[in-house]
Amino acid sequence: MRPAILFPLFAEIRTLAGVGPKLEKLIAKVAGPRLVDLVFDLPLGVVDRSYRPSLAAAEPGRIATVEVMVLDHLPPRIKSQPYKVRVSDETAVMELVYFRAKADWLMEILPLGARRILSGRIEKFKDRLQMAHPDYVVAPEEIAAFALHEPVYGLTEGLTARPMAKAVRGAVERVPAMPEWQDPAFVKQRGFAPFNAALAAAHNPVHDDDLSPQTPARQRLAYDELLANQLALLMIRAHLREGKKGRPIAGTGLLKAKAMAALPFTLTDPQLQALAEIEQDMASEKRMLRLLQGDVGSGKTIVALLAMLKAVEDGLQAALMAPTELLVRQHLASLEPYARAAGVRLASLTGREKGAGRETTLAKLAAGEIDILIGTHALFSEDVVFKNLGLAVVDEQHRFGVHQRMQLQSKGKKSAADVLVMTATPIPRTLALTAYGDMDVSKITGRPPGRKPVETRVMSADRLDELIAHLRTALDRGSRAYWVCPLVEESEKIDLAAAQDRAVMLRQALGPPSSKKISVGLVHGKMKATERDAAMLAFKTGETQMLVATTVIEVGVDVPEATIMVVEHAERFGLAQLHQLRGRVGRGTGKSSCILVWHEPLGETAKARLKTMRDTDDGFVIAEEDLRLRGPGEVLGRRQSGLEEFRMADPVAHADLLGIAHDDARLVLARDPDLISPRGAALRVLLYLFGRDEAVRYLRTG
Ligand code: ADP
Ligand code: MG
Repeated sequence: MRPAILFPLFAEIRTLAGVGPKLEKLIAKVAGPRLVDLVFDLPLGVVDRSYRPSLAAAEPGRIATVEVMVLDHLPPRIKSQPYKVRVSDETAVMELVYFRAKADWLMEILPLGARRILSGRIEKFKDRLQMAHPDYVVAPEEIAAFALHEPVYGLTEGLTARPMAKAVRGAVERVPAMPEWQDPAFVKQRGFAPFNAALAAAHNPVHDDDLSPQTPARQRLAYDELLANQLALLMIRAHLREGKKGRPIAGTGLLKAKAMAALPFTLTDPQLQALAEIEQDMASEKRMLRLLQGDVGSGKTIVALLAMLKAVEDGLQAALMAPTELLVRQHLASLEPYARAAGVRLASLTGREKGAGRETTLAKLAAGEIDILIGTHALFSEDVVFKNLGLAVVDEQHRFGVHQRMQLQSKGKKSAADVLVMTATPIPRTLALTAYGDMDVSKITGRPPGRKPVETRVMSADRLDELIAHLRTALDRGSRAYWVCPLVEESEKIDLAAAQDRAVMLRQALGPPSSKKISVGLVHGKMKATERDAAMLAFKTGETQMLVATTVIEVGVDVPEATIMVVEHAERFGLAQLHQLRGRVGRGTGKSSCILVWHEPLGETAKARLKTMRDTDDGFVIAEEDLRLRGPGEVLGRRQSGLEEFRMADPVAHADLLGIAHDDARLVLARDPDLISPRGAALRVLLYLFGRDEAVRYLRTG
């Protein structure tokens, strides 16, 4: 259970003074629902109000804090004009400008003849000094009401700076004095302050320099987070290995030989290399936890199948888990012929199977009459019992959480199943450590077998007409095309409408008087799964020649006849995503192209991204470049990565700390595996503080 010392931090935001339901909702949107989320929401900027010139000396354009006397009020003669208040110090006069302000309120805060301290941006307008809507208006004795250095936090529409800053301040004030969970010698050597002091410093920047990830305060907090991350990963692994030894799976090679004979191609060297690494792991006593990285279509699945056959050769079962039903069916269809050739029994299990069919599958599974089961997360269900699971393969796993990923292997009864995780997003080395701990890694590099290079073009949305004319010609000749529109949570409604509009527009533009009838399908994440599948199927069979889609097609869909990929608003996509999308074409025999259409404004990063896409199609190069351009939080997609939990650490900026945290975590657990020493107790607080409750639950004493 969460230690009592943390209770105040896990209270809801509305427990803060001055935060009602409306404000709470807005703050929760940018930071999260609890005080601890606010505490970890570090400032993005700092407003310096320490500049205190006389009015005559004030530099226009700067934020200044000045002391003045109120001279007179100049209400507007017509309503559309601003209300002005004239103020002065000994050196000059300045006008305060208010749009749509109530006169009685202004009279109240700026009474005639009163002295006031104002803080805001001073501008010069035709030789007249002006300050529009001062940020602060206080009596001289109230100067403490605002900070001369004001932290600036991320905001959202409807949430303004001041209530946000106040809420964060309130949350930080409630942080109880934390025990020291770090090694004192390390803290001293690094010049780190204790957690509470570091937190206070991080929230009270004075200069822009104080916002750097390399300040001692931010380093300390990042290190705390990284250590929690590394400890949790190691603890989860230790738990999963505990009590259940791996078992050597040697295989006979018979089924593998049969399947290989049925392959219409030969495996590439990188595939053979990866398979050899996997087989070696399986053959050893040690249980396998291996990550198989390879670009979209690089041929991971066939490698996985051969590994699964090895388990079947030893009389064991294997499971292959994919993130969507569609992918499950795709895997089933593509593996079926080889499974048949090898004489192994293949079955599938998704959320869709219910009732008697499901019962039969489960009974067969328990009786060992199914050798390989392919399914969605439905495989996690309690009642799914294997007779003897030897190998669990998880495809495109970053859709699953760390915990789920590990859970499947615990379905191995007598001994723990080997685990092979396949990912189509090449993960830069720095990130692999944070997301996967010390998982072993195999890579399938190089162009996917049989893949032709995809010609990539970048064009401005101004030339949409031209593009559509080209498309019409291509579609008339029998090509099939994707047209991808972005869909992000923040602007979901607008995006969805845009995708729908685009489908309508394309239907009109591509319909008659074109020589053939072109039909345009639409698929998006808000559709029912059945409708979505139907739309995908229509495109796969060629009933529709163009498919307008939000990014739902990103995940592993295979339509070899599709040769054109248009990505609209390409500037809004990450590199990895663009790369995945491009991987949807170039799968068949036809020459393929990818057209990245950008809309204004095109920022520097987006420009660099598009250039990278044009210059290379090596997924590993793209992944490293993506990391450089965007920073790690974005690279894998927050939810997809296991990085979702990072609030203060930046695995790139803090790469050196990550390595140290990894070693530190190993050392700690080697000495005190159940965290019962005094430092261990403090580390438990750390783990809960960073939401690694899962990991703590695995400790033997609680
Ligand atoms: P991944 O799982 O890595 O996305 P797949 O295993 O689905 O890729 O492979 C993509 C396609 O390439 C499949 O149709 C598969 O049959 C084919 N393929 C796999 N390996 C080879 C190979 N060595 N030579 C030719 N085609 C291959
Ligand atoms: Mg795949």
